[in-house]
Amino acid sequence: MLQDMFEQKRTLSFEVFPPKKDGEFDAAFDVLNALGKLEPDFISVTYGAGGSRSGKTVELASYIQNTLGIDTIAHMTCVGSKKEDLLGIAEKLKETNIDYVLALRGDRPGDMTDEQYASRDFAHASDMMQFLQENTQLHLAGACYPEKHYESFSMESDLNNLLKKQKAGAEFFISQLFFDNDYFYSFLEKADKKGITIPICAGVMPIVTARQIGTTVKLSGSSVPKALSDLFATYGDNRQEMRKAGIDYAIRQIRDLQENGVSNIHIYTMNKPKMAGEIVNAIYR
Ligand code: FAD
Repeated sequence: MLQDMFEQKRTLSFEVFPPKKDGEFDAAFDVLNALGKLEPDFISVTYGAGGSRSGKTVELASYIQNTLGIDTIAHMTCVGSKKEDLLGIAEKLKETNIDYVLALRGDRPGDMTDEQYASRDFAHASDMMQFLQENTQLHLAGACYPEKHYESFSMESDLNNLLKKQKAGAEFFISQLFFDNDYFYSFLEKADKKGITIPICAGVMPIVTARQIGTTVKLSGSSVPKALSDLFATYGDNRQEMRKAGIDYAIRQIRDLQENGVSNIHIYTMNKPKMAGEIVNAIYR
């Protein structure tokens, strides 16, 4: 059980995604084989917000769980799903021995009409968790945001909503990526005061190309500290040096987190096992 593991040891986990193009899907199994050799405590598999490719998430999650023998968390979003869709996926997960779901609302897909959005079955991740809790045997995890979710007016209201996820059955949280550890430390303090008692995994994404930072910041809303932007200024044009500096930044970030008592690290691997291996070898071997 993952909950027992959080109590007993420091954990290291990875996130992977199912490639969007079918032609690239087979390569994902090589990625998983290579990541598996790094012996993570669990691997989570992302899910397209609209849900149309949920089968790919289940397929990769099943491979991790049943072929590699590594605990798996399948992400699931509810923004584009009906109750029966979620129950259908839950059934498939049960058939493939997957017990854990990262229950997310997801972002509104661009092609969803106002009417569809307004009449969706679940407004928030906590509603979906409540439903899964009552209708399935799944264990649930949720997402949290050290710099607050972009729709929230304040950290206070975001934390109130986070507490709803804990009450709805979340057993642990995985954080949005962040580059400045001070945000995470401050978040942990506030979450603690708010009554969040379940483990929180710190999400770290290594930035290895100058182009990556733009998309990452746009998607996550995370702040870029001067120490990181200085790296782009210095190495941005030199691919090899930029990669090295980005990996080094992530290693330093993780070391600092561990020195400050953060026990659970979740690496957004971007399906790059070599990069993940360099980080793991520097920190854990
Ligand atoms: P919620 O918890 O519902 O929160 C969304 C907003 O609503 C927040 O501002 C919150 O404060 C507010 N809110 C929550 N509950 C209430 C309430 N009861 N009343 C009023 N307001 C409320 N997206 C994908 O499409 N696929 C993925 O695989 C995926 N994986 C992710 C993994 C991690 C670790 C993280 C951090 C994010 C991931 N996302 C993924 C992105 C995520 O779907 C978006 O960030 C989305 O905008 C919010 O999802 P959520 O589950 O946090 O939503």
